[in-house]
Amino acid sequence: MANDKLTTYKAKRDFRETQEPSGQAKVQPSDRRRFVIQKHDATRLHYDLRLELGGVFKSWAVTRGPSMDPHDKRLAVEVEDHPLDYGDFEGTIPKGQYGGGSVMLWDRGYWEPEGKKTPEQALAKGDFKFRLEGKRLHGSFVLVRMANDRERGKRTNWLMIKHRDEFAVEANGAAILDDNGTSVASGRTMEAIAAGKGRKPKPFMLQGGNMGADAVWDSSAYRS
Ligand code: MN
Repeated sequence: MANDKLTTYKAKRDFRETQEPSGQAKVQPSDRRRFVIQKHDATRLHYDLRLELGGVFKSWAVTRGPSMDPHDKRLAVEVEDHPLDYGDFEGTIPKGQYGGGSVMLWDRGYWEPEGKKTPEQALAKGDFKFRLEGKRLHGSFVLVRMANDRERGKRTNWLMIKHRDEFAVEANGAAILDDNGTSVASGRTMEAIAAGKGRKPKPFMLQGGNMGADAVWDSSAYRS
């Protein structure tokens, strides 16, 4: 069935040229909302945060990557909704195509909204609190829409900020990025992905349930 939330996604890409999913593949249903973070070595290196909501991934390009230090405010540029099968994509987008460069599955797992608002209401309000249970990222975050950017039209900027909790750190919030240089889905480095070498990524969206190649998964921890 056509998903018109993906019109922009499809319009930006030529699927004869790029290996990126066209949104046709059927993903496994999940009773928990899934998320992925893709490290994307494009014109500028960034980390794409994708949260499953309403049958698509709401997506933000986090320019410097997420930080575990609540003092850090990371610019997160809202981008077009992505299809759920994009959550299994790891590989290289050809030069000249939109987002040309290599993509690594850097983290994945489950998320849940925090607070009384529905996620749709919180997003509309521009104050979106959520909790990640990934292989690498854990705990509460907020995305806050920047007030002046709505009128500018070109792009919608948010700030991604870690909340204070047991997973927060007081310094070196980006160490989580530096300490984890390989794919959670294939174990590969960006160099190996760019060279098209090494293992294929283990699926998460298409087959489901397994967050990472060597994830220790205790579902009881997420049933609160
Ligand atoms: Mn990107």
